[in-house]
Amino acid sequence: MNVTVLAGGVGGAKLAHGFALCQPEIDLTVIVNTGDDFDHFGLKICPDLDTVCYTLAGLANPETGWGRKDETFEAMRQIGELGGPIWFRLGDKDLATHLERTRRLKEGQRLTEVVAAFCRAWGIKARVLPMSDDSVRTMVKTREYGWMGFQEYFVRQACAPTVEEFAFEGIDHALPADGVVEALESSHLIVIAPSNPWVSIQPILSIKGVASLILSQKAVAVSPIIQGQTIKGPAAKMYREMGIEPSPLAIVRHYGDLLWGIVIDELDRNFEAMIVSSGIMTLSTQTIMRNEQDRFRLAKEILAFYKDFNPNHQPGREF
Ligand code: GDP
Repeated sequence: MNVTVLAGGVGGAKLAHGFALCQPEIDLTVIVNTGDDFDHFGLKICPDLDTVCYTLAGLANPETGWGRKDETFEAMRQIGELGGPIWFRLGDKDLATHLERTRRLKEGQRLTEVVAAFCRAWGIKARVLPMSDDSVRTMVKTREYGWMGFQEYFVRQACAPTVEEFAFEGIDHALPADGVVEALESSHLIVIAPSNPWVSIQPILSIKGVASLILSQKAVAVSPIIQGQTIKGPAAKMYREMGIEPSPLAIVRHYGDLLWGIVIDELDRNFEAMIVSSGIMTLSTQTIMRNEQDRFRLAKEILAFYKDFNPNHQPGREF
């Protein structure tokens, strides 16, 4: 059974890991947002790709969910002493990833090839694909400062400014990376992970052809909003600032016709009837992934949900 997960950083990585633990029963592809990528110290930084890969490889920092475990920050300390910028914290092990990725890209390798090589080196069995090899830059328009790059907003300003609009620079010319179209076309199950819909999933959906492929196949989303809040990050704050009450219903409306189903947290069970009446299958369960068991259980429950309810599911097509 082919499963494709659309993922941003921490929330997406955790669910992707849950599905990775279901291998080899399933064949897993993870399509990752690259709108957050940026250049820093002349290095190409890909925060979401690295979070997904570190998580799948068992190398992620369990406290933060991003960055490497057992990390040191000696290079940053030295940069600070020299008066250099330290607002984006790069660990020593993490720096090795950025150095080697940048070297390979300068040599002419595509990002897709670099990610595949890193996945092999780290023993990752899932197929991890950047959404595109072309550069896309997520921009955030804020009331206080106007347009700014995503990392400026997210890390430097700690998401404090009020968002008004989002744009994905370069999106009109960005083609899906090799394997993205094939993965979506051959998917039995497409899962939109509990990642930030505005800045983690929307860039992937905005890549030429991706939304229309998902429209024809339909997907299931996992709500990143639980009781009007996020586990981490600014998604709920963004909904409020965009004039929308953050709830599983907001997620259903956000993805609209792309969905056949949604997984909501059991604490939001009161939304179930309303969502079902709009024709979307709903699974309410515990969606907070505190540990590996939670990730695995949630992935298993989504597989069972698909087998039970997906209206497009054709018996015999799953294996
Ligand atoms: P980022 O790029 O690191 O900010 O990560 P993502 O966009 O992938 O994830 C941020 C979203 O993931 C937030 O809206 C969180 O609420 C959501 N999230 C994180 N962990 C969990 C979890 O365990 N369960 C659910 N349902 N959502 C989560």
